[in-house]
Amino acid sequence: MKFFYLSTNDNDQGFFEIHERECPHLPPLLQRDYIGLFNSAKEALKKAINFNPNASLCSICSQKLVKKRDSSANQIIEN
Ligand SMILES: [Zn+2]
Repeated sequence: MKFFYLSTNDNDQGFFEIHERECPHLPPLLQRDYIGLFNSAKEALKKAINFNPNASLCSICSQKLVKKRDSSANQIIEN
C-alpha cells in the first residue's frame, strides 16, 4: 500500500495530478490533498475523481508503480 496525494494546482492540460508520496513531482505540502492508502494509482484515481472530476494520474509515479521494487540492485524488471 502507498500513500497518494492529489495536487491542488492544475497542470498545463487543466488536470489535477495524483502522486504517490515518493514521487519526485509531489507538490509541496500546501499544494496537495491527501487521498489515502491504495494498492495502485488506479484505485487512488477512482477515489479522487469523486471529489475532483479533473483528477488524472501523474505520468512519472503511476508508471513507476507498475514495476516491482527489488532489494537487489542488479535485477531490473523489464516491462
Ligand atoms: Zn507523480
